[in-house]
Amino acid sequence: MTECFEPAVEQCYAALEQKIRDAGMNVNLDRVRAAFELAARAHREQKRRDGSPYVTHVVAAASITVDMGLDEDSVVSALLHDTIEDTDVTHEDIARQFGPQVADIVEGVTKLTRVNYTSREEEQMENMRKMLLAMSKDIRVILIKLADRLHNMMTMDYQTPEKQRLKSLETMEIYAPIAHRLGIQTIKWELEDLSLKYLDPVGYRQIVESIDARRDNLEEFMSRMESRIRERLRQWDIECTIYHRIKHIYSIYRKMYTQNLQLNEIFDICALRIIVENVSDCYNVLGQVHDMFKPVPGKFKDYISTPKPNGYQSLQTTVIGTEPMPFEVQIRTWEMHRTAEYGVAAHWKYKSGNAGLREGDEEVFAWVRHLLETQQETDADDFFSELKVDMFADEVFVFTPQGDVISMPAGATPIDFAYSIHSAVGNRMVGAKVNGRIVPFDHQLQNGDIVEVLTSKSAPGPSRDWLNIAKSGSARTKIKQWLKKERREENIQQGREMLESELRRQGITLSEIQSMGVLPEVLKHLSLPDIEDLYAAVGYGGLSAAKTVGRFREDLLKAHKNAESARTAIDKMNEAAERRNSKDAGRQKPIQGVLIAGLDNCLIKFAHCCTPVAGDEIVGFITRGSGVSIHRADCKNHVEKKDGGENRGRWVEASWTPGYEGSYVTALRLNCADRNALVMDIATVLNALNAKVRSFSARDLSGGKAVASLTLEVKNLGELRAIMARLAVIPSVKEVSRVNG
Ligand code: MN
Repeated sequence: MTECFEPAVEQCYAALEQKIRDAGMNVNLDRVRAAFELAARAHREQKRRDGSPYVTHVVAAASITVDMGLDEDSVVSALLHDTIEDTDVTHEDIARQFGPQVADIVEGVTKLTRVNYTSREEEQMENMRKMLLAMSKDIRVILIKLADRLHNMMTMDYQTPEKQRLKSLETMEIYAPIAHRLGIQTIKWELEDLSLKYLDPVGYRQIVESIDARRDNLEEFMSRMESRIRERLRQWDIECTIYHRIKHIYSIYRKMYTQNLQLNEIFDICALRIIVENVSDCYNVLGQVHDMFKPVPGKFKDYISTPKPNGYQSLQTTVIGTEPMPFEVQIRTWEMHRTAEYGVAAHWKYKSGNAGLREGDEEVFAWVRHLLETQQETDADDFFSELKVDMFADEVFVFTPQGDVISMPAGATPIDFAYSIHSAVGNRMVGAKVNGRIVPFDHQLQNGDIVEVLTSKSAPGPSRDWLNIAKSGSARTKIKQWLKKERREENIQQGREMLESELRRQGITLSEIQSMGVLPEVLKHLSLPDIEDLYAAVGYGGLSAAKTVGRFREDLLKAHKNAESARTAIDKMNEAAERRNSKDAGRQKPIQGVLIAGLDNCLIKFAHCCTPVAGDEIVGFITRGSGVSIHRADCKNHVEKKDGGENRGRWVEASWTPGYEGSYVTALRLNCADRNALVMDIATVLNALNAKVRSFSARDLSGGKAVASLTLEVKNLGELRAIMARLAVIPSVKEVSRVNG
């Protein structure tokens, strides 16, 4: 059954198979072979630019996925990753032979391949990276794409200079940061170095040549440092693995440019890595290293206690070696090491691999843990197939025709898109195209869609329906603004109809609202000057008719209830009075000199807010359960509250029995300019008038002002007025007023 291909192709495949065996992967090799054969047949006629059969590229990509530690489906998908894009093979073909999961992964990679990259400013690139991640619903899609890109970069020499530059820029700006975000440092470094090679060939070559020239020295130096540390740690019985490396070229390059250094000024291009069994050994080793070598100040970083966002953990320090030459030391456990090298893939590799499940594996990186939260542990082998990239589930990323990436809430429509460009674009929209096809306004945009808005100067403008279609708050706000501004008459008409129909639905009439005096309160609450504005607001969608009527309904109920309870209170007091005064029932009797309309013999008290005295114009307020409280007619509480709200209907007329005199405590306030002996003068006047002072206090205000508060007992308004008049002529007393409210 096995088909045979030309020797170069077979050789290439044999190497992949060997690598799978060496990695000890639990893989069905027949299935891998079948994928290879399908790819080899499909790409049979295609050649790479260097003249090699195309299929060698997909075998190489598959080989990288093995290095990354991915699973069987990933290897199979990597072999097939270019079939949908470049050959006649379809999703169905793949699904039939390799199952829907592989077919979906291949299709996912195809979609990423189709995304058109143009270099933009940083914000655009971040959206682009997010979009690629969001499009990779299965994490293996982006991992295979990284393998694909890595191999393409490795074989970029045969491409045209323009293509080399464009692909390198894209790799540097999009794919290397994605590898970094996923924590796959080895891939990230390779991608960066390869990109640099084409983006700045001269700078790249300088570093490579300079390192090559110094390589023997550096190697010799690092080996000495390594054995010294190894010796020391053996004395302390710390088990460890130590090795050294020269840092990757792009990191040296970046240091040269960001710190403006010449190449020979960068010393710490060597790094030594010490891998130990547990975290406490990490800190022990650090102590030993700092004891042996002088640390460079400011270079120590503890990424164990504070891991990087992608999960990276290590202790890092730079120390001065013997030459004296600085070198970096990284200290970490094996688990931290795997995470640093393989990132998201490490999780999978060591879960399904020999290491088995480890306690606390989920801690390895926060975002994987986050992904897992919604997906409880399943079989370890299913880990990656279950792992969905839902980091950006609430966002959708689409392109403008110019290639800008726009981020919008998931479920966004062409209307949202148009308003996100500019409100003028939205207001003039007459249609929309997605990927070149006309779509309805409520079409839901997908990641990677290219969206074009069709506009016309004679467009009628947004309609009210758009409010229901738009998904983003900002689009709805802009639509409402337009409707509010451009359509007032129509809004009033429309709003009136909407409100009336809603009133009917809830069984309320406009006349009821007016007669119960509810309208002013509601308008005031909504900060609307009159009912036309209320109609207009409902009309353009600023207010919901249902909510507005709901408010009317509530206020109406309150008003009814108050009127009811006021009536009940009056009835009760009258009944009580009747019982007490059954003999002379019906005749009005004053209480403490006060006559209250319709009430006899009820409990009264004088309000503290305005402290009325006999002779003042007064009103009564039926309190809840403590009789009638008497206020001055000009009391703030009366003036402000008599017309509306819940207390409507509780105010009753009241008056004094003519000539009545009693004893009333009332409060005065004196505004003064502060001066010496002012308080003494006021006290002297009060004494001279024989006023019955209950309390007297004065305090300084800022700006040379003072205020005096006074409570007095008087028998009527006449006496009070006389006292006030006398107080008002004391030097530096500016104003004498009664306390009100
Ligand atoms: Mn490819």
